[in-house]
Amino acid sequence: MIPQAFIQTLLSRVDIVDVVGRYVPLKKAGANFQACCPFHQEKSPSFTVSPTKQFYHCFGCGAHGSAIGFLMEYSGVGYVEAIRMLADQAGLQVPQADREQSVRPRNEPGLAELMQAVTRWYRQQLKQSSRAIAYLKQRGLTGEIAARFGLGYAPDNWQGLAQVVKDYESPALAEVGLVIVNDNGRRYDRFRDRIMFPIHSTRGDVIGFGGRILDRGEPKYLNSPETVLFQKGQELYGLFQARQAIRSAGRVLVVEGYMDVVALAQHGIDWAVATLGTATTPAHVKKLLRQTSDVVFCFDGDAAGQRAAWRALEQSLPVLDDTSRLTFLFLPEQHDPDSYVREFGRDAFVSLVEAQGLPLSAYLFRHLTERHDLQTEEGRSAFLKELQPLLVQVQAPTLALLLRKRAAELTGLEAGELAGLWKLPAPGKPGLPVAARGKRPAPASVNHKLLRLILFRPDLAGQLRKEWITGPDADGSALVRLLEILAASPNLNGAVLAEACQQLPEAQLLAARAAESLIWDESFDVVAEFELAAGQARNAWRQSRLAVLARKSLSELSDEEREELRGLH
Ligand SMILES: [Zn+2]
Repeated sequence: MIPQAFIQTLLSRVDIVDVVGRYVPLKKAGANFQACCPFHQEKSPSFTVSPTKQFYHCFGCGAHGSAIGFLMEYSGVGYVEAIRMLADQAGLQVPQADREQSVRPRNEPGLAELMQAVTRWYRQQLKQSSRAIAYLKQRGLTGEIAARFGLGYAPDNWQGLAQVVKDYESPALAEVGLVIVNDNGRRYDRFRDRIMFPIHSTRGDVIGFGGRILDRGEPKYLNSPETVLFQKGQELYGLFQARQAIRSAGRVLVVEGYMDVVALAQHGIDWAVATLGTATTPAHVKKLLRQTSDVVFCFDGDAAGQRAAWRALEQSLPVLDDTSRLTFLFLPEQHDPDSYVREFGRDAFVSLVEAQGLPLSAYLFRHLTERHDLQTEEGRSAFLKELQPLLVQVQAPTLALLLRKRAAELTGLEAGELAGLWKLPAPGKPGLPVAARGKRPAPASVNHKLLRLILFRPDLAGQLRKEWITGPDADGSALVRLLEILAASPNLNGAVLAEACQQLPEAQLLAARAAESLIWDESFDVVAEFELAAGQARNAWRQSRLAVLARKSLSELSDEEREELRGLH
């Protein structure tokens, strides 16, 4: 483990403006620095670096983090490596003997270390199993690729993991899904006699595993269950390894299996990722569009592939913007990406993407026109009925307009007639649902205001009391968490706080709230705002306590409650 104290020293020695400035040309803009975002394609700068807060934030794609986070995101390195790079730049020595051993500290510290230790053990087991090695060789994989993806082998042993973890009964093993507890309370390894594919988060931690059976047997592929570390609908296999390649290729290929990703990488297509035993979700598509606007979905040519493709299209519609370029590729029947690239090679695969890939719009209309006979009024009417709920989801204004125009052409209507029929907003204000137009965002709640104020001025936290934070809203619980952290270490500087926030389950919300302060100018009176909001919170709490105590008669009150009542008045 890298000691937390070292990370604090490191973050107080480096300036995020220098760190980012090495890679991205920053321009001063008021109190902050700006550039075109290195994490998504844009023409006007929405990427902002705050020297006082020591974090970066992109108002376009939401990228957010500390100097450590920037290096990880930009260079695609893991946490430990990012710290080492920063330490080198700052002329500091990372105080630890064994870098291999250390893992990223996170909110579940024990679990991340456990996953790392198990990953290493599976890798050692692979080296010792000639049968597993023979299997990988027969699939055409080299040792280099196996190492890049950290492939391992889970031996055919009901309690193999007892060799890695001191306490096989530890609840952590079940919590990360590595052991199964049966009805009699007996425990056994989930993965046995399988090739193991570690699943990494985009920050490089192992959060789950996929296991493929070597010979015959069911199920062929087995994944970790959903755990505190691993949410299938969010994660993409191979994204951590592929990020740089995706950036330089300018596109990403999405396939269905981890074996496909590894096989494609073996043949030089190292910009592929896979969904993990689940259909594509909007979160997946968003994550991909943050890497590149050019996303190619690749599906098997069979009926299951057709269903998966349509589902991916449906899930993508709400998250597209006008620069997104989604392509749908169907492989010839009998083929998956693994078998295709092994048989025909890299160039044939890439040509197939170029020649056979259908743009989203083409796929959408092809699929629906195959289902409805546009020669008849009834067919055209049914076609439009099926199309309408899909098109209203498209928020990208130009794309939405073009898709509607095409729908009108196909059915012989005027664009205006279609808009009238679907009660669409008038041209010029496309994309927005009628109800959303002209509506202003809801005013920020007290918890919301307090959260962004405390992120801006952590030193004010001492004036807030946890019990004042009421209500079950997300801002409230993030704020309570933040107050706890600041109570434990009141002198956290901006950089350390920004990095600590990244480790919390509420990281996304905290990032959004921290970013809100980037647009405050000097006339914004932070202390006055804080006093106002803190007063409101205290008042609301006081009223609710008074109401509770007032329900009791004076004789029912305990001594503490009487004391409290006096304090409240
Ligand atoms: Zn961005």
